Amino acid sequence: MKCYVCAKEGKESTAVAVCIVCGMGLCMDHAIRKETEVWQGGYPFPLKKSQRSVPRILCPACAAAYGDDL
Ligand SMILES: [Zn+2]
Ligand SMILES: [Zn+2]
Repeated sequence: MKCYVCAKEGKESTAVAVCIVCGMGLCMDHAIRKETEVWQGGYPFPLKKSQRSVPRILCPACAAAYGDDL
C-alpha cells in the first residue's frame, strides 16, 4: 500500500500504518500516533479501564477532526 497523503502530493511512499478512522495508508511522516492511557465511558468499546496505553494511528485529516476525542 502507498501513503495516500504522499500520493496526493505526487510522491510515492510505502505505507507503514493505516488510519483507524478512514483506513487510508500512511507513511511514517504522515501517521499520527496517539495513545490514551485510560478509556473514558463507552467509546468505542464497552471497556471500563485499561492499564495499558492503547496506540491509535490517525491520518492528518482525521487527527484534526477527531484527534482530541479519540
Ligand atoms: Zn506520506
Ligand atoms: Zn483518516
